[in-house]
Amino acid sequence: MYLYNSLTHKKELFVPNHEDIVKMYTCGPTVYHFAHIGNLRSYIMEDVLEKSLRYLGYNVKRVMNITDVGHLASDADTGEDKMLKGAKREHKTVMEIAKFYTDAFFEDCKKLNIKTPDVVEPATNCIPEYIHMVQTLQDKGYAYFAGGNVYFDTSKLEKYYVFNDHNEEDLEVGVREGVEEDENKRNKNDFVLWFTKSKFEDQALKWDSPWGVGYPGWHIECSGISIKHLGEDMDIHCGGIDNAFPHHTNEIAQSEAYLGHKWCNYWFHVHHLNTSDGKMSKSKGDFLTVSLLEKKGYDPLVYRLFCLQSHYRRNLVFTWENLDNAAVTYQKLIAKIATLEDKGEVDKEAFAALKQRFETALNGDLNTSLAVTALYDVLKAKTNDATKLAAIKDFDTVLGLNLIEAAAKFRAEQPQEEYGSDPEIDALVAARAEAKKAKNWAEADRIRDELKAQGIEIIDTPQGAKWKKI
Ligand code: AMP
Ligand code: ZN
Repeated sequence: MYLYNSLTHKKELFVPNHEDIVKMYTCGPTVYHFAHIGNLRSYIMEDVLEKSLRYLGYNVKRVMNITDVGHLASDADTGEDKMLKGAKREHKTVMEIAKFYTDAFFEDCKKLNIKTPDVVEPATNCIPEYIHMVQTLQDKGYAYFAGGNVYFDTSKLEKYYVFNDHNEEDLEVGVREGVEEDENKRNKNDFVLWFTKSKFEDQALKWDSPWGVGYPGWHIECSGISIKHLGEDMDIHCGGIDNAFPHHTNEIAQSEAYLGHKWCNYWFHVHHLNTSDGKMSKSKGDFLTVSLLEKKGYDPLVYRLFCLQSHYRRNLVFTWENLDNAAVTYQKLIAKIATLEDKGEVDKEAFAALKQRFETALNGDLNTSLAVTALYDVLKAKTNDATKLAAIKDFDTVLGLNLIEAAAKFRAEQPQEEYGSDPEIDALVAARAEAKKAKNWAEADRIRDELKAQGIEIIDTPQGAKWKKI
């Protein structure tokens, strides 16, 4: 499989570190509010990546954190504490907020057919691991204590900006409007590993530590949780592109300084879902959720299809019109699949040829829109319905569009034809079916013409021959 790697800025052949397992890590949600459909775009595409790897024969172990502590809007401790903000807004405790929005997140994932990762770990579960890491970083000379907090010293690194050649001035915290410089920092990109002095004196969750009672910085949780569950190396780290800097850059800095060697080989970044105002974001407050889509009558899987139709490395613009187009596409697809009859034997050769096209799409840097096209190729293929259904079922293990189930539901909801019932005519229709079975075409035609003369038409249905008055 070829995957674009943000670390090397090119598409590379994916080769896992270990033959028997792909180790994959995903930055999980910050649970102070509902996930918006932009967040969920990232989780849908990461889900497709995981399922593609499994489809292509890899064994995958995937780990995800839940950010329920310490995620400040800025490392300078000047932004708001997002969890605290949620708790105040809803007059609840931070832990109540975390539980509520974690559950809501997984509800949304279920509706979107996003598989729950093998390991899901709330950040608050791993405090001893972070303390151990921060202590080790300090012992190795990569961290310093200043003004009550522990900071990572970015000047100790040979290379800090691993993803882009950022213009340092652009990133200077101090020059951004409304963000104060943290005077404790020795270098402007240094970041907090552990807080004890924070402007959030009412911080609800605090733990004892060698530096005093406090709480972890945001970045350390992803390093701590991934190393705890995946060990000292990792194959693929995923997240939205907005996390590349500073979050992932800081994760790499502290993990590699702590481990003393390279940590993660491939970085998979999903680009943004935008509205006409730019990136959809929780902090802007004006965002769309899965429940809102449902309230407006959309099947959440229509949104999944909408995401699959575009490449994960392109910005995707959300408009209701675009979503309507996806809804029409989904309906047509389902209606077409609903006409297929599960009869006969699967043609193995035809099946393999169809599968080949699908695999080629996934292998080419997860080209999901081409994978959806491969689905249309199935419907157009010159093979029997059983083969088509087998291919659709197979592809859907990756696409996650519930194609077979939705088609069955579609069929069941179709208004039933009103067929005639009369013992004499029923007997003639049955006799014709027998004649056809015996390949006595002359007799079959004779009965058909006799019925036609009486104004009766025979209709072949999946449930056998029926009739109705013309
Ligand atoms: P958060 O809950 O804010 O920590 O974000 C959860 C995930 O959603 C992260 O991987 C973000 O990078 C990603 N994300 C945030 N906004 C968007 C967006 N508009 N489009 C796609 N992904 C996003
Ligand atoms: Zn993370």
